[in-house]
Amino acid sequence: MTLLILGGTAEARDIAAQLEGRDIVSSLAGRVARPRLPVGPVRIGGFGGIEGLRGYLREEAITAVVDATHPFAEQISRHAALACAMEAVPLLRLERPGWEGTPEWNWVDDHDEAARLTASLGRRPMLTTGRRALPHFVDVLADHEVLVRLVDAPDSPLPGAWTVILGRGPYTANGERDLMLGHGVDVVVSKDSGGSFTWPKMRVAADHGIEVVVVRRAPGPVGVETVTQVSDARSWAVRQI
Ligand code: NAP
Repeated sequence: MTLLILGGTAEARDIAAQLEGRDIVSSLAGRVARPRLPVGPVRIGGFGGIEGLRGYLREEAITAVVDATHPFAEQISRHAALACAMEAVPLLRLERPGWEGTPEWNWVDDHDEAARLTASLGRRPMLTTGRRALPHFVDVLADHEVLVRLVDAPDSPLPGAWTVILGRGPYTANGERDLMLGHGVDVVVSKDSGGSFTWPKMRVAADHGIEVVVVRRAPGPVGVETVTQVSDARSWAVRQI
């Protein structure tokens, strides 16, 4: 009776901590150089698509899965929904609520639209959409003085006018204020990640009249039972194991 937690988020680490001592295994994609590890057994790396995940579920005798991955990790959630359905393994999606924002926020459907809108809104944007989204912004914002914050250094060269800083949340309001005002940021670009870790930049933007561009979440896989609270996911997991 082993529970698989698809992780890479604070919520996934919380559930693993709350289920410490039970038969669980957490899975990380291996995207960042020094991941924050949950307590308990951990495996790292992709499964090899839907078929790979199906094989893993069978070989490791996984009896239930909690998909606690990031709201923008759409592919692994889709794979989990399909693999679990095909293997008749119960699946719960834990997804933190999105941000409500303010009427001033500029909502867009994807990173390309975010790039175009950002180019028209300011000259000194701050990009916080992650390393994999960078190709969508590089050409459109090549002559903007972009401040880009990443967990790990970019794997390809960025325009000369861009400044890269490395960091990962949680961030403080004071730290974000110093960073954003110090750099003269006039637009903040973010995914609708939700949660509190990366929220302070939005607060600073609201306080200082800085434009905000937010990439909407895509709808998740249909038919997957979903909760927003770690406590509910924990209760479900305990029932399964
Ligand atoms: P993604 O696009 O949905 O997934 C791409 C591939 O990465 C998947 O098909 C799978 O490879 C592998 N993968 C993803 N999550 C995995 C996991 N927890 N365990 C094992 N393999 C996993 O994912 P992503 O957006 O690159 O995110 C990767 C990880 O970073 C996720 O675990 C997510 O929770 C975390 N994260 C993502 C974001 C974000 O903004 N996207 C932010 C913070 C944290 P195979 O097909 O080979 O199985």
